[in-house]
Amino acid sequence: MARYFGTNGVRGRFDELTPELALRLSQAIGAYFKNQNTKPETRIIVARDCRLTGDVLRSAVVSGLAAVGCDVIDIGIASSPTAEFMVKKLKADGCVIISASHNPPEWNALKVVDGRGVSVSRERGEEIEKLLDKARPVEWDKVGKITMNDMATGMHIEAIMKFVDTKKIKAKKPKIVLDCGNGTACFIAPKLFKELGCNILTLNSHPDGRFPGRPSEPTEANVKELIALVKSSGADAGIAWDGDGDRVIFVDEKGTYVIGDKVYALSILWKAEKEGGIKGDVITTVATSKAVEDVAAKLGSRVRYTAIGAPYLSEEMIKGNAFMGGEEVGGVIWPECSLAKDGFLTGAKLAEALCEKKLSEWLKEVPTYYNVKLKLEADDKKKKEFVLRALAHAKKNKFVHVDVDGVRINFGDSWIIVRPSGTENYVRIFAEARTKEKAERLAKEYESIATG
Ligand code: MG
Repeated sequence: MARYFGTNGVRGRFDELTPELALRLSQAIGAYFKNQNTKPETRIIVARDCRLTGDVLRSAVVSGLAAVGCDVIDIGIASSPTAEFMVKKLKADGCVIISASHNPPEWNALKVVDGRGVSVSRERGEEIEKLLDKARPVEWDKVGKITMNDMATGMHIEAIMKFVDTKKIKAKKPKIVLDCGNGTACFIAPKLFKELGCNILTLNSHPDGRFPGRPSEPTEANVKELIALVKSSGADAGIAWDGDGDRVIFVDEKGTYVIGDKVYALSILWKAEKEGGIKGDVITTVATSKAVEDVAAKLGSRVRYTAIGAPYLSEEMIKGNAFMGGEEVGGVIWPECSLAKDGFLTGAKLAEALCEKKLSEWLKEVPTYYNVKLKLEADDKKKKEFVLRALAHAKKNKFVHVDVDGVRINFGDSWIIVRPSGTENYVRIFAEARTKEKAERLAKEYESIATG
């Protein structure tokens, strides 16, 4: 079991993920990438978000990587999708992103991405941890070069522009409110949407590592201001990103919040329409709404389910025959651009789709399921107990279930998952059904089954 690596990197508060630990981990990460590489040089990209601890952790990470002989390309403050896009663009051997994504401001994390643009899972993190304190600095004349590259965001914008019909957007000029949440979206979203030709209004668009405007996770409760501004300004839509910009949610012209699953379902529709149908399977996690399966089935495709977490989605896509990938919290992978979730390309696709019809019209093509999410506090021992109780219940009653990453139980037009969090002390229960009441009933029922 990995000591430091969770589902997607090493995450902690500043007294846990200290500069000392970041240095030791980065030496191990550098050695891991060097071992996997057959070329004489190993080039690693480093990016960070705008959290207050970002700069000091960056110094430790850059130092650790260069000390074991990796060349470092520091792209400064950039979104996760920008950093992941740059891995492919610069043909780098890996990337370390210093960002705790949607977590509160006192948190930070090291997310490690390989040369294919796939982030390193807990299992691969274990391999890195085996090198901890064994990876020693190289000889003085073999230390890596450290260079800065401030072109990353511009290059990412340029790439995104190629995947949408900018002529159509410039002609129609959809009015969109951008809620950057004081995160890395501030560095890319206003510029991107201006260049696309949208009429934009911005919210929380100055970077601030304390996240004063709203909490970093774009839940419905956290984007109330965005919803109000979309309505009062008569905008066509609103978009909000999480702290590192891989996740995105929408608000339609009536002020209706569009949950992450539906963002993914819409993305499938838009890509299928542009490409004249679906070629390949739709990849998603076991926690994703049945709406995604319904949309895929209508277009003649099927869903391949994975464990929850970006690394598992990307790994499944690499296996082949994948149309696109996405997860329940609004992270969508557009393989034509990169193998990572890209909240900015997803946002640009919305701008393009708005030229055809209103967002509320598009939403009529996505079935509505009601989703209830509960969080039960649990230490490692309780996490196991809760999941085992749910599994025993499913087996006893002969329910159709999948025990990948917790237990998902399917009941036809409703389903439930009981799942231990990989990064926090919680067991999460998601229930989904055709009515809110049924989803609530299911979630409550499985809360009592899990807790005994
Ligand atoms: Mg994120």
